Amino acid sequence: MQAYDVIIIGAGHNGLVCAAYLLKAGYSVLLLEKRPVPGGAATTEAVIPELPDFRFNLCAIDHEFIHLGPVVEELELGKFGLEYLFCDPVVFCPQPDGRYFLAHRSLEKTCVEIERYSLRDAQKYAEFTQYWQRIVSALIPMFNAPPNSILAVARNYDLGKIKDLFASVGSTHKALEFVRTMLTSAEDLLNEWFDSEVVKAPLARLAAEMGVPPSQKNLAIGAMMMSMRHHPGMARPKGGTGALVQALVNLVKSLGGEILTDQRVKQVLVDDGQAVGVRVANGTEYRAMKGVISNIDAQRLFLQLMDTADVDTADPNLRERLERRIINNNETILKIDLAMSEPLRFERYHHRDEYLIGSILIADSVRQVEIAHVDPMMGRIPDADPSMYIVQPTVLDPSMAPAGNHTLWIEFFAPYQIAGLEGTGLYGTGWTDELKNQVADRVIDKLAEYAPNVKTATIARRVESPAELGERLGAYKGNYYHIDMTLEQMVFFRPLPELASYKTPIKGLFLTGAGTHPGGSISGMPGRNCARVFLQSQSPVAQAFDNIRAFLGS
Ligand SMILES: Cc1cc2nc3c(=O)[nH]c(=O)nc-3n(C[C@H](O)[C@H](O)[C@H](O)COP(=O)(O)OP(=O)(O)OC[C@H]3O[C@@H](n4cnc5c(N)ncnc54)[C@H](O)[C@@H]3O)c2cc1C
Repeated sequence: MQAYDVIIIGAGHNGLVCAAYLLKAGYSVLLLEKRPVPGGAATTEAVIPELPDFRFNLCAIDHEFIHLGPVVEELELGKFGLEYLFCDPVVFCPQPDGRYFLAHRSLEKTCVEIERYSLRDAQKYAEFTQYWQRIVSALIPMFNAPPNSILAVARNYDLGKIKDLFASVGSTHKALEFVRTMLTSAEDLLNEWFDSEVVKAPLARLAAEMGVPPSQKNLAIGAMMMSMRHHPGMARPKGGTGALVQALVNLVKSLGGEILTDQRVKQVLVDDGQAVGVRVANGTEYRAMKGVISNIDAQRLFLQLMDTADVDTADPNLRERLERRIINNNETILKIDLAMSEPLRFERYHHRDEYLIGSILIADSVRQVEIAHVDPMMGRIPDADPSMYIVQPTVLDPSMAPAGNHTLWIEFFAPYQIAGLEGTGLYGTGWTDELKNQVADRVIDKLAEYAPNVKTATIARRVESPAELGERLGAYKGNYYHIDMTLEQMVFFRPLPELASYKTPIKGLFLTGAGTHPGGSISGMPGRNCARVFLQSQSPVAQAFDNIRAFLGS
């Protein structure tokens, strides 16, 4: 049996980041990935066989969170081929009445755009953005440390972040205001600050990228999404999101790490309460001398990849808590990728090519965005009046398609399980090829109301249903954040309080990935934080503390 210090289940970007830190610390690492390529929800692939020169970001495309942490610099990913291209403008959102929201990277330029509709909203937009930028800055130290390690969080504060912390919660009034803001919904908050729908609708769409409707109480924090596009900015790796993964693969391999693809882990091997290895689908077993780290969510790990007895012995309540406590609101994504002979043209909006650089949001109203999220929760497909998030990546980075040609990335929220179609279609979800194509037609029809040439310029298209996306990623019910990003599942609660430190009740078994703090998106933070916890657990002092804790029964 081949043996390594650490085995990582899944080579998503977080698994790769984690591996890189462990390899740098001198540990031998094997990553086992079920797909033919590493990267998980961060790949760039040529998926239309007859068009091998068109390369598509199958999932993530716009990177914001990774710029809030040190992963790119610490791992010197630039030396391994990563180059970020920053977007400017960052958002274009055309409205049915011919108006449009155009956000530049510069806050001042964006306010000038908003002044065309409302002087008050332009002023408020500047205040709102600065308010959220201070909150984000104050939260960065928490994102980049294990949530329950007060020392590690405190060490991440520099003078600027301390100032932002005080500016956000430094007096009773500010602290109460902050708490009140956190308790409210993105919709309520936007109504409190702004008058015009042309400002509110795109901000609501971005806030709801947390995977919940804008009306969801306790999740106003989604409103920070727009502020980050101004600072530190929104970027895409040159060559696609897969170029980030390729840089990580290059680094991992250069440090002697091994990545085996087409290796679906079926079983975590446990001996006397300690994770000692894994078995893959073809029966091969790999031994882990110091630990097994899971890049997949806790539900799949404990409920599908482990012996019931092993889990129950370690914690008799864990399986029930994972089954019943973790929230999955049934929302996932129907993904559409187009190969195009020319870029979109927004003629009714005095087309300018710069509209196509950032994200293009079809968000006609806050209500439309609300339905885009409420319908999937109820098992309905919100295709009567589709809202969508579009990117034409080849405008910023023409290397991703043959000269003069383009690709289009469309994200449309949809239910995993369609109500009334239980037990039919793919994996019993109700999704069929016919249905996914019908929905894609509706989405394209809606887009054509804004950019009519989308139809004539399309050379080929690929549509991936929620059921197919879930199977490809190995994510529970196709959840793009592994588990929902709701407040009671964040920070100390992600995925459950007893698992929130990246450690588990099974000795030597650790969790990383989107289902751990600080959550989904391209950030590498769960991977880095988990590596730090693993490395600390290897020190003799930490072992002594663990033994004392075990002795005291805590
Ligand atoms: C359509 C879509 C669009 C998105 N857009 C954005 C965006 O623009 N910006 C952004 O920041 N985020 C975006 N996200 C979210 C982001 O992509 C993810 O949160 C992030 O990539 C998760 O990374 P991860 O490494 O934690 O997990 P994953 O990428 O899910 O990696 C888990 C890995 O484990 C593998 N695996 C699963 N089961 C097994 C098994 N049994 N054995 C071995 N391997 C296994 C999987 O194949 C996968 O490679 C998007 C997600 C989706 C689905």
